[in-house]
Order: sequence, then structure tokens, then C-alpha cells
Amino acid sequence: MREDKINNAKRWVVKVGSSLVTNNGLGLDKKAIAHWADQLVSLQKQGIQIVLVSSGAVAEGVARLELSARPTKVHLQQAAAAVGQMGLVQAYESCFMRHGVHAAQILLSHEDLSDRTRYLNARSTLSTLLEMKVVPVVNENDTVATAELCFGDNDTLAALVANLVNADVMVVLTDQDGIYSADPRLDVDAEFISVASADDDSLMDYAGKGSSLGRGGMFTKISAAKLAARSGTNTIIANGKMEKVLLQIASGVKIGTLLEADNEPVTARKQWLAGQLILKGSMVLDDGAIRVLKESGKSLLAVGIKQVDGRFSRGDVVVCTNKAGKEIARGLVNYDNDEVKALMGQSSEKISELLGYAGEEEIIHRDNLILS
Ligand code: GLU
Repeated sequence: MREDKINNAKRWVVKVGSSLVTNNGLGLDKKAIAHWADQLVSLQKQGIQIVLVSSGAVAEGVARLELSARPTKVHLQQAAAAVGQMGLVQAYESCFMRHGVHAAQILLSHEDLSDRTRYLNARSTLSTLLEMKVVPVVNENDTVATAELCFGDNDTLAALVANLVNADVMVVLTDQDGIYSADPRLDVDAEFISVASADDDSLMDYAGKGSSLGRGGMFTKISAAKLAARSGTNTIIANGKMEKVLLQIASGVKIGTLLEADNEPVTARKQWLAGQLILKGSMVLDDGAIRVLKESGKSLLAVGIKQVDGRFSRGDVVVCTNKAGKEIARGLVNYDNDEVKALMGQSSEKISELLGYAGEEEIIHRDNLILS
């Protein structure tokens, strides 16, 4: 079971917390960063697509600004993060470049991902980077947001990224081996949990306190696993101090705690889409388009659209109906209502000519479409 879930996983989100990339919270540990880059490049060579979520900006900023300790005031942490992020990306860039692999900086906030247009934009940027075999290095945009700075050390952000890229696996690396039923330092009967459902409520009772360096304790990691499970992503919480931990996980060694997503990826993701969003408009499809959506599971193209109603923007949820007004599907649309009107009935090759810019080929991509 576990082997299947991991062996078949082709898209991983890997999250490394501050304690794994810094020297005791002060300044970056360049050797550690080189080890992460080496392992990630090896995974890439095995055909795995990687998105790295890394913190460490505040810690590096503290070192660069020669502050005696991590500031407690949030605006000072933000300033430190802005300075330190330069060092963090420099370090990753040079370590990945040693292997001839490009890295890309992505700074995101939770709000970016709850806004549907930004969600779709972030999603297409990340998928494009993955297709290009670039490793995206994601951190919270600490200048404008403070959620992870105050609470999570990027745990929740990693889960949102897992939702965003539809990851098969999220590996959350920390300084503990995984989840125990009690604190093993205090309780000899503490049992190690090697597999559990991400939705198992008793996990929260087991969650102990976090390490002092990062913000996120086990509690935020379990919540992150629950969030990732909503889009079908399985989470492994493992000890980042273990030798070549990522390569061991990829080769099937049972390391850490696996928190399983109970639903199949596609179903869960589409449930998530369906549950999150409000309907803004509708489009009438011709019979050919309806057949293609239902029978071949393909994306909706402009050529099959007969009529557009309502006012909607890129990223809104729109209903697709047949000529009699019966709902056939709903999904996240790639264009505004006026743009769809201009494109309807036309072939996708004409998009740039009709709109004056080259947008997506699909009006609704099949990954963002739910049949009714
Ligand atoms: N985004 C922050 C960083 O990269 C989160 C980590 C923290 O709160 O220390 O430094």
C-alpha cells in the first residue's frame, strides 16, 4: 500500500523548515542547502517533478543584518525576511546550477491562493516551470503576509502548494522522526505512528510542541497534511536530519509518518473545487462539445460554445449547460465573459489574433472541470 503510493508518486512538494537550512537559526547552512539540492536533483533524474518549499529567510536576514537574535516584532521579522530571501535564493540557485538545473523563486501568500485568478496564474506558472524541469523554490511573501511567519514556518503554505500543483506526495521534513502517540522522551510506552489517515482526529492529541527554531510544531504539520489530503495528496512527515532522507523515501524505505489521503486524487481535487467556489455565469455548449467533455474527459474549447451569459472573470466558476439549459458541467474559466464571447465558435489557434494576446488553449481546462 505505502510502497504503491510513494513509488507511483510523480509530483512531490518537499518542505524544509528553518531548522534544516540554518546554523541553529542564525544564517544559512550552505552545506545543508547543497545536500537538499543534490537529493532533489537525484529525484528529478528519477522522473519525479519537485516543488521545494523552503523557509530560512528570516534566519539569513538576522545573520546578514548582524542582529543578535531573531526579532520578536513582526515588522522586523519581515524586514529580516526581505534581506534574507536574497541569500536563500542565491544559495539554492548556486547549488542547483552545479547540476545544471535552474531554480525559480516563487513568493506566495495564502490570499494569493484563495483568490481564484491568482490561484490559476500561480498554477500555470508552476506547471510551466515543472514542464521546463526547473525547480520552483517557494517561500511565503513575508513582506505582505505574516501567517507563516507567526504560526506555520511554511507548513500550511506547503499544503496549499500541494493543492495548487495537485501533488501526489508532500514530504514535510522536520527535526523529529514523525508522530508518536506520546512524547518518547517522557513516556516509555510512546508508540511511533507509521501510517494513519490524515483525517484521523486522534493525531491532534498526539501532536507535541514544535522545535524552537521554526514556527511550526507537529500540530501545524498535521493540519497541513489534512489540507493536502483534500486534493488527494499523501503526506510524509520525516526527520530531515536523516542521511539522504528524500532518496530513502523515494526508494521505498519506510521512514517517518505517512498520513494518507482517503480520496483518490482527482475526485478529491474536484470535490475541493466544487466546495470552494461560487457560480458566476453560464455557457451553452453544442452537442459535440458535450460529448467530448462527457466521453473523452477533455478540456472545453471555444469552438463548442454557443452562448455566454452572466458576468465573470478569469478564475470564476461558470456553469456549462446544453441547449435546453440543463447543467452538464462546471469549472474554473480561463477568460472573462467578454473574451469568451469573442472566442466562442472559433478554433483555439485564433485566440491570440482575436484577443491580442496568447492565452490558454482551453476555455476550461479538464483539471478544473467537474461533470454534473
Ligand atoms: N518565511 C519565513 C522564512 O523563510 C518563515 C520561517 C520563520 O518563521 O522562521 O524565514
